[in-house]
Amino acid sequence: MKIALIAHDKKKESIINFSISYRHILKEHELFATGTTGKKIAEATGLDIHRFKSGPLGGDQQIGAKISENEMDLVIFFKDPLTAQPHEPDISALMRLCDVYEIPLVTNLAGAEVMIRALEAGFFSWRTIARDEA
Ligand code: PGA
Repeated sequence: MKIALIAHDKKKESIINFSISYRHILKEHELFATGTTGKKIAEATGLDIHRFKSGPLGGDQQIGAKISENEMDLVIFFKDPLTAQPHEPDISALMRLCDVYEIPLVTNLAGAEVMIRALEAGFFSWRTIARDEA
């Protein structure tokens, strides 16, 4: 599966810890991330991650473009709900595209824990069919 990992600054430590904890699952998949998130996760875990631009510089939009092309299967987004983000329109656009294309999206650690276990259990195999039919 193609998985996008994104975290706002105050959630970076959390997504790093999440990635370390679930490295054994994540390493079986194709990983993508916004610039800084990807760099920090790669440094902490050694995982191979395709890095887009930093979020405020267009990274969220690049991930959105992948979604619109049916080239992303899951978005794990550790959002900070308590800090204003300069690229809020890009974030809204990314989440909107997940809804348009029915791409699973989680926006916090609790959701990510459930989603990664679902991934491990094979609950995402329908995405392979959805991709082949596109
Ligand atoms: P970053 O972007 O990983 O480059 O920090 C994340 C974001 O703020 O959208």
